[in-house]
Amino acid sequence: MNFISTRGICKEEVSAAYAIKTGLAPDGGLYMPKSIPTLAEGELRALADMSYPERAAKIIGKFLSDYTEDELLIDAKNAYAPEKFGDSPAPVSKIDDATYMLELWHGPTCAFKDMALQIMPRLFVRALEKTGERRTALILVATSGDTGKAALEGYRDVRGTKIQVFYPTDGVSRVQKLQMQTQEGENVSIKGIRGNFDDAQSGVKRIFADSDMNTRLNDSGVFLSSANSINFGRLVPQIVYYVSAYCDMVKSGEVTYGEKIDVCVPTGNFGNIFAAYIAKLMGVPIEGLVCASNKNDVLTEFLTSGVYNRTRPFFATISPSMDILISSNLERLLYITLGADKTRDYMEKLAKDGRYELTRADFAKIREHFVGFSADEDETKATINSLYNEKNCLIDTHTAVAACAKSKYFATEKAERKILIVSTASPYKFARDVYSSIATDAEAPDDVEAREKLAALTKTQIPQPLACLLDKAVRHVDIIDACGMDKAVADFAKA
Ligand SMILES: *Cc1c(COP(=O)(O)O)cnc(C)c1O
Repeated sequence: MNFISTRGICKEEVSAAYAIKTGLAPDGGLYMPKSIPTLAEGELRALADMSYPERAAKIIGKFLSDYTEDELLIDAKNAYAPEKFGDSPAPVSKIDDATYMLELWHGPTCAFKDMALQIMPRLFVRALEKTGERRTALILVATSGDTGKAALEGYRDVRGTKIQVFYPTDGVSRVQKLQMQTQEGENVSIKGIRGNFDDAQSGVKRIFADSDMNTRLNDSGVFLSSANSINFGRLVPQIVYYVSAYCDMVKSGEVTYGEKIDVCVPTGNFGNIFAAYIAKLMGVPIEGLVCASNKNDVLTEFLTSGVYNRTRPFFATISPSMDILISSNLERLLYITLGADKTRDYMEKLAKDGRYELTRADFAKIREHFVGFSADEDETKATINSLYNEKNCLIDTHTAVAACAKSKYFATEKAERKILIVSTASPYKFARDVYSSIATDAEAPDDVEAREKLAALTKTQIPQPLACLLDKAVRHVDIIDACGMDKAVADFAKA
């Protein structure tokens, strides 16, 4: 399977290994497989009898055809080992007769990013070997909180790589910040940015596009790559859990084989929900894709009106990993539904005017699969409260945005199937807001103290990776301006 750019200016086809190694196509587009592989008759049934790593190796192998099945199986077994994810990396739990939860936060950093970032560095190291690469890869990451830590855990001390993470210093939760500041490993650099996530992401994109900088780095034996979901190596492991969840629902008798379900995903960069769409295109019986946004509801507006308008106020919310105005992976959706020429046009409009409007025909094609709903801060908190008190289900703020969107969706006539809500983080990662949503006493002072209170109130346990956070030494405290990112990269490359 070869990969091509979503923009179609650069027409060259590249191997999966090359696409994973480089991340972004030279024309500024994102890499996509030339076609979407499908699951043959009976293949889904066969997957149902396999373990999670076996399912992962089969599905990833359909896209990364230059990797052997053995390589992928070894990588998947190591990535999703019980020491890291417990017995079941992506379990499905039942909330009520029509509602299920896909729990994706049982990994080392307690957010769903681990599902991709535990295996991606393994795929990446193989990509370096497969393409005969001798230079050091410098992985640049802009993070709204969860990607940074998950990428650092995945890439720490991985040979042939260095990783540098930029996060908005006031845009992440205290637990998220501590997780990054206490990061161990010899090949890591972590910088807080004065600005928001989009400032960090724009800075990283600018550095990727800076040819002088890239030439200088190359001369010193370094090249840049990304671990954000613009890299297809991040997306492909995310397809696996949608296939896997359907298999599990069939196995447990919750759906009959072939019965269609809907999926509801708390969305920021549009990576996770796009992976669900690919699973649908592969043949998993998924019908509706419900895109849930927080108060930064740029995607809700897009899916309701066909207008994508990023020139709007930015809100720092209690679901910070979704505080995004530029959803990079939407470009892949445009490409797959409308083709490269239209994608390029719309992306040029976005760069120039900060907005674009789909034609009616183009919008209709997207509306066939997707609907969008948003939840404001009060609705998010009320949803945490009601799910806990009525269903005994404790969820984090991001998952709550999705659960609220699901309720709004269920109030429409389109909803007639069982729905799988994607649960993307442990409630203990956002303990202060979760606690204050369900407790009747005054609010807890901060995330760290709120964890103890949350554990006592709900009689649940703080996940081990978060429990030991306070015992760790803080090692990374630098805060810089967004315009200082270039220098930080140059310095770290030399270090
Ligand atoms: C990253 C993240 C999201 C958003 O996922 P996208 O792939 O960016 O749409 C939602 N919830 C949590 C907890 C996250 O870390």
